[in-house]
Amino acid sequence: MIKLYNSLTNSKQEFKPISASRVSIYSCGPTVYDRVHVGNLRAFLFPDLLQRVLRYLENIDVDWVMNITDIDDKMMGRFKAAYPEEAPANALGRLADKYTDLFLEDIEKIGIKRGDISHLPRATDYIPQIQSMILTLLKANIAYLSDGSIYFSIAKYEASGQKYGRLVSLNFTPQSRVTQDQDQKEGVADFALWKVRKTDEPYWDFEIEGQNLPGRPGWHIECSAMSREFFGGLFDIHTGGVDLKFPHHENELAQCGGAQANFYLHNEHLSIEQEKMSKSIGNTKFIDDIKDPIAFRYLVLSGHYRSQMDFNLADLASAHERIKNLRVYSDQLMLARVGQLPTQDSASIAQQSHRQFVAALEDDLNTPKALAAISLIEGKVFSEDAKELMRLADDVLGLNLVSDDPLHAKVLELIDNYSQARHDKNFEHSDKLRAKLLADHGLVAADTEIGTLVSRA
Ligand code: AMP
Ligand code: ZN
Repeated sequence: MIKLYNSLTNSKQEFKPISASRVSIYSCGPTVYDRVHVGNLRAFLFPDLLQRVLRYLENIDVDWVMNITDIDDKMMGRFKAAYPEEAPANALGRLADKYTDLFLEDIEKIGIKRGDISHLPRATDYIPQIQSMILTLLKANIAYLSDGSIYFSIAKYEASGQKYGRLVSLNFTPQSRVTQDQDQKEGVADFALWKVRKTDEPYWDFEIEGQNLPGRPGWHIECSAMSREFFGGLFDIHTGGVDLKFPHHENELAQCGGAQANFYLHNEHLSIEQEKMSKSIGNTKFIDDIKDPIAFRYLVLSGHYRSQMDFNLADLASAHERIKNLRVYSDQLMLARVGQLPTQDSASIAQQSHRQFVAALEDDLNTPKALAAISLIEGKVFSEDAKELMRLADDVLGLNLVSDDPLHAKVLELIDNYSQARHDKNFEHSDKLRAKLLADHGLVAADTEIGTLVSRA
């Protein structure tokens, strides 16, 4: 049974899904006004790891929804400049299309399979659902109208018996100014559900008791409405970076009447020179800046998701080397000849490694420990158990270590001939065969105690 650190309780809790057959996960996705940076990618890699662990280690199906924010203040700031000749709605759509496509390319590069994400809903496709949720909040007298916009009232929410501040402890003073639209709000922490139409911005009509309030949704309401649309109500796990705890997830939770998800999981930030990587600071790096994107994945997994990680090129280079070494081992293991497998004492190491691997991940997804568990067998154990563990590790960690391409019989014969020549101390011949293995088949031969092991160059 897996334990996960729940931001709702600030503790590690045993995870029990609502339905025994399927786990529902909702991840806050990108705002598609620009390319995602590698800090953002950490926030997408984390739910990918989570869903892989649930699927392949816990053997349970996953319904993973990730939204695409295609309407918010950041989008508004960009679409006009990007497509000045287009009508606002078209320009917004084109901007969203462009960066959604790039986002999908970027996540594929770091080993997130598009097919593992069940739905990627875009906020503008769910305006009726968003409006219906706002209407419900208005009817419940928790939301109010002000100058053509609609706000969520924290005071009224709390008066209804709910607590605002479940994910973070809050201490508002009347002077606090938490958003720019302060003047139209009754309370400092109230937030916009619907923003009044501005000239030259896309808008939707919103009929409320015979009155039309043209405008667009606020940011927080989209995730409440879309998670409800896909999961029907309470779901299992909500993910996002720590900066989303407040106000975003706190507000989502309030909009859902205090019951949105059972677990809220938050990944820590990727920083650069100890400062959060962020577009507003301008210290961003992009996956295209990185030659080996899977090494970036390894780098992220080498730290625990709840620890801050500082991004630097030296660590990335080490991650690249680790991946290379693990691939050599994995190749040697997968291509090892029948006679070389297994040795008695290696069985217990493989089992220990397997146990530690599973235990680490079941303990709040401790990937550094899981990677350490694999090091126990690396270069030492060449058995069927080890093969099984490496295949499991690949499914769960997504590092593409295992290549299951079988070698052609002719190549196997060549390896055997090479082995024999070495054994016979016919080094002139063995050197020729070694060169042939590399030149014609891209294989590197290593001579070890248990015989010749080969890996792809
Ligand atoms: P945004 O597009 O700004 O809404 O961010 C998308 C996701 O990236 C959110 O879950 C953020 O919490 C997360 N995020 C943003 N910056 C970082 C960072 N430097 N490190 C890790 N996660 C981040
Ligand atoms: Zn969200």
